Amino acid sequence: MKDEKKKKIVKSIRINVDKCNGCRACEVVCSAFHSNPKYSSNNPARSRIRVIRDPLADIFVPVYAGEYAVAECAGRDKYTIDGKEYDECAFCRASCPSRDLFKEPDSGLPLKCDMCESDPTLERPLCVEWCLNDALIFEEREVDDEDDVKQEELEIGLESLANKYGIQKLAEIIAKMSESKKG
Ligand code: SF4
Ligand code: SF4
Repeated sequence: MKDEKKKKIVKSIRINVDKCNGCRACEVVCSAFHSNPKYSSNNPARSRIRVIRDPLADIFVPVYAGEYAVAECAGRDKYTIDGKEYDECAFCRASCPSRDLFKEPDSGLPLKCDMCESDPTLERPLCVEWCLNDALIFEEREVDDEDDVKQEELEIGLESLANKYGIQKLAEIIAKMSESKKG
């Protein structure tokens, strides 16, 4: 019988833009949590969540800082949802050269949401805690551990080679490869 696959917990935050009123409490607490020393100052420009706001159009989109992008993307998308037109970069999480979002204002270094990593671990990320409108919902889900999946794929691959060429031959080839890598 096969071993049970190892699982890991993936944390994520689901965003409900319809519930966001643009109060920016999430930006304030995130920047305060990441200030040095902790909570010594707050500056939304240093926050790892930013709220794209267009109050006249009733548009408020909380966006989490994601990966750093070296260059601007070539194509941009416009979205119209429920009659509201969202800006080209409204849903983008990248820190990229085309805008100031998600860059540390003094150094220009990219910022990325770290899910409020701390010791001891917080029960819920602070932006979720401070969002009184429930626009941010913390979720944890169990997924297959990637390392475990890769190991299984490797075993399947080796097993099929062993079936085809014989385990002895396969062992000889691996030993040869290992020797040539050392040299
Ligand atoms: S705290 Fe919640 S309601 Fe306020 S801006 Fe952030 S996501 Fe929107
Ligand atoms: S999860 Fe933590 S680090 Fe990420 S945006 Fe929210 S407060 Fe900032």
